[in-house]
This record gives sequence, C-alpha cells and structure tokens, in this order.
Amino acid sequence: MSSTPPASRRDLVRGLAAGGLAAGSLAAARPAAAQPAATQPQGAAPAGQPAPTGAPVLANPQDRFPKPPFPAQSQPWPALQSKMDPVPDCGEASYRGSGRLAGRRALITGGDSGIGRAAAIAYAREGADVAINYLEAEQPDAEDVARHIREAGRKAVLIPGDLRDEAFCTRLVEQAREQLGGLDILVSNAAYQHAQQKLADISTEQLDQTMKTNVYAMFWLTKAALPHLPPGAAIIVTSSVNADRPSPMILDYACTKAANEAFVKALAKQVIGQGIRVNGVAPGPFWTPLQVGGGQTEEGLKNFGTTVPMGRPGQPVELASTYVELAAATSSYITGQIYGQTGGVGWP
Ligand code: NAD
Ligand code: MG
Repeated sequence: MSSTPPASRRDLVRGLAAGGLAAGSLAAARPAAAQPAATQPQGAAPAGQPAPTGAPVLANPQDRFPKPPFPAQSQPWPALQSKMDPVPDCGEASYRGSGRLAGRRALITGGDSGIGRAAAIAYAREGADVAINYLEAEQPDAEDVARHIREAGRKAVLIPGDLRDEAFCTRLVEQAREQLGGLDILVSNAAYQHAQQKLADISTEQLDQTMKTNVYAMFWLTKAALPHLPPGAAIIVTSSVNADRPSPMILDYACTKAANEAFVKALAKQVIGQGIRVNGVAPGPFWTPLQVGGGQTEEGLKNFGTTVPMGRPGQPVELASTYVELAAATSSYITGQIYGQTGGVGWP
C-alpha cells in the first residue's frame, strides 16, 4: 500500500486544499462521471467486489461499508481489531492527507485500534508525528499502526501502559512530549465498555474500571499536558451518543460519556485564555474491537447498526476527517463543541 496519491490526484488535492477544501470533500467536489476509471469507493468494498484502491466516489452512504448481520464472534478483552470479521476500516487503504497538520505532534490514547487508529493514520498522513498509547496485549495492533505512520514519513512513538494508573498517565504525557519534541494535540480516546442486563450485574470492580479508564484518565492526562500545550493546541475527547441517549445495557459507560461531554464544555471555557481549544466527538455505533470484547451482547453485535437510520455501523475511517478538522488550525473558532456522528439519529 502506498500513501502517495498519483500525480494527477495529488495536484487536485493541492488545488482543493488551497481553496479550503479537504481531501474528504473530493466526492462532492466533482461529479461521479468525472472520476478516473481507477478510483473505487473509499474503504471496505461490499462482499464479492474487488478491494478498494483509490479516491472516494459519489455513492449512497448506506451501501458504502459492510452491513449487518455480522458473523457471530467474541474475543477476550481487550480485543484485537486484526482478528475481527470484517476487519474495521481505519482508512489504511483510503485516507489521503493534504498537509493540514504539518509539523504537529499528537498523543492519542487507544490509538492501536478502532477510532483512535483512524485518527492516528489520518494525522500522520496530514503531516503530524504521532504517539499512541494502548495496553500491552494490543501490541500487534499498535505495531501495525506504527508501520502506517512511518510509511507516511512521520515519527511513530509507541507507549503501552494502563491508563487506570495516575502515575502512568503523567509519565505517558512526559514520554510523548520528550520523544515527539513537544505536544500540540491530545486525543483522550481510550475507553472501557462492558454490557450488563441490570444494574445489579455491574460489579464495583467493573464500575471502577469504566470510571478510571473513561473519566479519571481523561482528567489525569489533561492535567499533565495542559502546562506544556502551546497556544493553538487542541484537546479532543471521544464521547458517545450514549452521553445523551443512554442504552440501558451500558449504564455505567453511559455515565462516563456524559462526564466526557461536561468536561469538554467546562474545560473549553477554562483554557481558551491559554489559546487552547477543547472539543468532543460523539460517535453512534462504530465497528470496533470495543464491541467484540464485551461491549455488546452477541445478539447486539450480530445486528450492530440496525437501529440507526443509516442501517449499518460506521467504520472508523468515517470519523477520521472529524478528528483532523478539530485539531487543525482552520477550526480556530470551534471550541466547547461536541460533534455528533450517529448514523442519522440527530444530535444532541
Ligand atoms: P477500541 O477498542 O478500538 O478502542 C478503545 C481502546 O481503549 C483500546 O484499543 C485500548 O487500547 C484502550 N484502553 C481500554 N482500557 C485501557 C486501559 N486501562 N489503559 C490503556 N488503554 C485502554 O474501540 P473504539 O470503539 O475505537 O473506542 C474508542 C472510543 O470511541 C472510546 O472512547 C469509545 O467510548 C468511543 N465510542 C465508540 C463507539 C463504538 O460504537 N465503537 C461509539 C461511541 C463512542
Ligand atoms: Mg485496541
């Protein structure tokens, strides 16, 4: 796989970037009939069709990626995305950058897989050096992300470790800063989700794991990073549709996602005086390891995405340009916002 677009497309991307349009807008910027013959829809192709190779074309978004029913599957937590069926699409074969984050330095938690991986690949292809954090058990997924970052010509820093430990969170930020030569973008994205039928089934141990991973780590990482972030820096927190429309099966998780959003809105007001923007992303159902490692029931996983108007789950690559947008200097007036990407249920 090459991360360099063909010359004609590269020129087109440059032209669009100069005109304020991102590569993701290509499909809208020219009619389908004008597509070069070699281009195919972005991301995973429907079963039976050849693997995608090029730029996005004008296509019905409902048909663009795999739909339920999905094959029965489960993995012990934390699940590996390389073992999922289908493997999530994080933009490996499709995301094209246009220098929107040239020279930036980013730390992304949960950057080994799913949504964080899509952000990591996109950031590197937009010109940023990227440090990712993950759990040791996820080393194979993390090394694959590092390969993509390096193939984009950027520095990849791998820092495994458990975010439930405050001392580790502080060290993580320090190590990322040291190895990247500074820090301009913090993406607090890692999370734990475990479905339970009833409140009584949520053990104190589970509650603790969900709260520490999803809320405490966000506080600890941000506290450690803030004194070092320059004006123009961006903090992005991954929330969820569950912050506002909580599913009864993931009550503890939904509480943490509401906390993520309150944190974003309050912190944004606190730190704009330092020139730092803080925003959140609230995804709906996305096809990631979080769901197969205990995040969903077996039935919920099989029909994952059927409850939203889109009729399918999102693929992480469909969030990549949102993470780029929120980090980029072109978004200088955007702070304290939560970007919903929920498959059509409306937000908030
Ligand atoms: P994912 O499994 O790919 O990413 C979650 C990551 O969290 C893991 O890769 C793991 O590295 C990390 N993690 C978990 N516990 C950790 C710990 N104790 N220490 C260090 N790292 C730890 O799944 P994803 O869906 O891409 O999740 C990313 C974010 O998206 C999460 O904040 C999740 O709440 C949010 N989200 C996901 C969905 C969805 O449907 N997949 C929907 C809404 C929000
Ligand atoms: Mg993972």
